[in-house]
Amino acid sequence: MAEAMATKLEVGAIFHSYDEVDFAIHDYQMRNFVQLYIRDSRTISNGTRRARIKNFNQRLKYSEITFACVHGGRKYKSQSSGVRPNQKTFLMDCPVSLKMRVSPDGQSLFVKSFQEQHNHSISQVCMCNCEVKGWEA
Ligand SMILES: [Zn+2]
Repeated sequence: MAEAMATKLEVGAIFHSYDEVDFAIHDYQMRNFVQLYIRDSRTISNGTRRARIKNFNQRLKYSEITFACVHGGRKYKSQSSGVRPNQKTFLMDCPVSLKMRVSPDGQSLFVKSFQEQHNHSISQVCMCNCEVKGWEA
Protein backbone atom coordinates (compact mmCIF):
# COMPACT_ATOMS: atom_id res chain seq x y z
CA MET A 1 0.00 0.00 0.00
CA ALA A 2 1.07 3.54 -0.54
CA GLU A 3 2.66 5.30 2.35
CA ALA A 4 2.07 8.86 3.35
CA MET A 5 5.72 9.43 4.06
CA ALA A 6 8.01 10.15 1.19
CA THR A 7 11.14 8.10 0.93
CA LYS A 8 14.16 10.15 1.85
CA LEU A 9 16.39 10.91 -1.06
CA GLU A 10 19.77 9.49 -0.20
CA VAL A 11 22.22 7.10 -1.72
CA GLY A 12 20.83 3.60 -1.46
CA ALA A 13 17.21 4.66 -1.12
CA ILE A 14 14.90 2.23 -2.89
CA PHE A 15 11.74 2.96 -4.83
CA HIS A 16 9.25 0.44 -6.10
CA SER A 17 7.43 2.65 -8.55
CA TYR A 18 7.96 5.89 -10.37
CA ASP A 19 5.10 7.34 -8.38
CA GLU A 20 7.21 6.88 -5.26
CA VAL A 21 10.13 8.58 -6.96
CA ASP A 22 7.94 11.46 -8.07
CA PHE A 23 6.52 11.81 -4.60
CA ALA A 24 9.95 11.81 -3.00
CA ILE A 25 11.24 14.39 -5.45
CA HIS A 26 8.29 16.64 -4.76
CA ASP A 27 8.77 16.24 -1.06
CA TYR A 28 12.46 17.03 -1.35
CA GLN A 29 11.76 20.11 -3.42
CA MET A 30 9.29 21.42 -0.90
CA ARG A 31 11.59 20.82 2.03
CA ASN A 32 14.70 22.24 0.44
CA PHE A 33 13.26 24.99 -1.71
CA VAL A 34 14.89 23.73 -4.83
CA GLN A 35 13.57 22.60 -8.13
CA LEU A 36 14.77 19.51 -9.87
CA TYR A 37 14.08 18.33 -13.35
CA ILE A 38 14.77 15.15 -15.25
CA ARG A 39 17.90 15.89 -17.16
CA ASP A 40 18.36 12.44 -18.53
CA SER A 41 16.39 9.24 -18.49
CA ARG A 42 16.20 5.87 -20.06
CA THR A 43 12.88 4.14 -20.28
CA ILE A 44 12.46 0.52 -19.38
CA SER A 45 11.87 -0.54 -22.96
CA ASN A 46 15.16 0.95 -24.04
CA GLY A 47 17.00 -0.24 -21.00
CA THR A 48 15.77 -3.79 -21.12
CA ARG A 49 17.81 -4.69 -24.10
CA ARG A 50 20.97 -3.37 -22.57
CA ALA A 51 20.49 -4.62 -19.07
CA ARG A 52 19.04 -7.98 -20.10
CA ILE A 53 16.58 -7.95 -17.30
CA LYS A 54 13.62 -10.12 -18.05
CA ASN A 55 11.14 -9.18 -15.41
CA PHE A 56 10.96 -5.47 -15.14
CA ASN A 57 8.65 -3.88 -12.67
CA GLN A 58 6.64 -1.87 -15.16
CA ARG A 59 5.66 0.69 -12.57
CA LEU A 60 9.22 1.93 -12.53
CA LYS A 61 8.84 3.31 -16.05
CA TYR A 62 12.55 4.06 -16.21
CA SER A 63 15.68 2.03 -15.89
CA GLU A 64 17.76 5.14 -15.31
CA ILE A 65 16.88 8.65 -14.28
CA THR A 66 19.10 11.62 -13.64
CA PHE A 67 17.61 14.59 -11.87
CA ALA A 68 19.39 17.91 -11.85
CA CYS A 69 18.90 21.29 -10.28
CA VAL A 70 17.12 23.74 -12.56
CA HIS A 71 20.14 26.01 -12.12
CA GLY A 72 22.45 23.38 -13.46
CA GLY A 73 22.45 20.90 -16.24
CA ARG A 74 24.46 22.91 -18.67
CA LYS A 75 27.36 20.92 -19.80
CA TYR A 76 30.72 22.53 -19.88
CA LYS A 77 32.35 22.78 -23.21
CA SER A 78 35.37 20.64 -22.75
CA GLN A 79 37.67 22.66 -24.92
CA SER A 80 38.40 25.35 -22.38
CA SER A 81 41.54 26.54 -24.00
CA GLY A 82 42.06 29.67 -22.06
CA VAL A 83 39.91 32.34 -20.58
CA ARG A 84 36.86 33.42 -22.48
CA PRO A 85 36.12 36.94 -21.34
CA ASN A 86 32.81 37.14 -23.13
CA GLN A 87 31.37 34.22 -21.29
CA LYS A 88 29.63 35.03 -18.07
CA THR A 89 30.79 32.11 -16.05
CA PHE A 90 28.60 33.15 -13.19
CA LEU A 91 25.72 31.54 -14.97
CA MET A 92 25.03 28.89 -12.43
CA ASP A 93 26.32 25.55 -13.48
CA CYS A 94 24.88 24.01 -10.42
CA PRO A 95 26.44 20.57 -9.94
CA VAL A 96 23.49 19.07 -8.10
CA SER A 97 22.41 15.80 -9.59
CA LEU A 98 20.63 12.72 -8.42
CA LYS A 99 21.11 9.50 -10.30
CA MET A 100 18.77 6.57 -10.03
CA ARG A 101 19.24 3.21 -11.58
CA VAL A 102 17.20 0.05 -11.71
CA SER A 103 18.21 -2.76 -9.40
CA PRO A 104 19.77 -5.89 -10.92
CA ASP A 105 16.52 -7.81 -10.54
CA GLY A 106 14.52 -5.11 -12.29
CA GLN A 107 12.13 -4.65 -9.42
CA SER A 108 13.14 -1.32 -7.98
CA LEU A 109 15.01 1.88 -8.57
CA PHE A 110 17.71 2.92 -6.19
CA VAL A 111 19.64 6.13 -5.69
CA LYS A 112 23.05 5.51 -7.14
CA SER A 113 24.57 8.88 -6.43
CA PHE A 114 23.45 12.17 -5.06
CA GLN A 115 25.44 15.36 -5.33
CA GLU A 116 23.55 17.65 -3.03
CA GLN A 117 25.69 20.77 -2.78
CA HIS A 118 24.29 23.70 -4.70
CA ASN A 119 26.67 26.36 -5.91
CA HIS A 120 24.16 29.13 -5.34
CA SER A 121 21.99 30.37 -2.58
CA ILE A 122 18.71 28.65 -2.07
CA SER A 123 15.79 30.83 -1.35
CA GLN A 124 12.28 29.99 -0.43
CA VAL A 125 11.21 32.63 -2.92
CA CYS A 126 12.17 30.33 -5.74
CA MET A 127 9.37 27.94 -4.97
CA CYS A 128 6.73 30.58 -4.78
CA ASN A 129 5.55 32.48 -7.81
CA CYS A 130 3.37 34.85 -5.87
CA GLU A 131 6.19 37.07 -4.75
CA VAL A 132 9.57 37.61 -6.27
CA LYS A 133 12.03 39.43 -4.08
CA GLY A 134 14.95 39.19 -6.39
CA TRP A 135 18.00 37.03 -6.30
CA GLU A 136 20.11 36.68 -3.25
CA ALA A 137 23.68 36.41 -4.33
ZN1 LIG B 1 21.18 24.23 -7.55
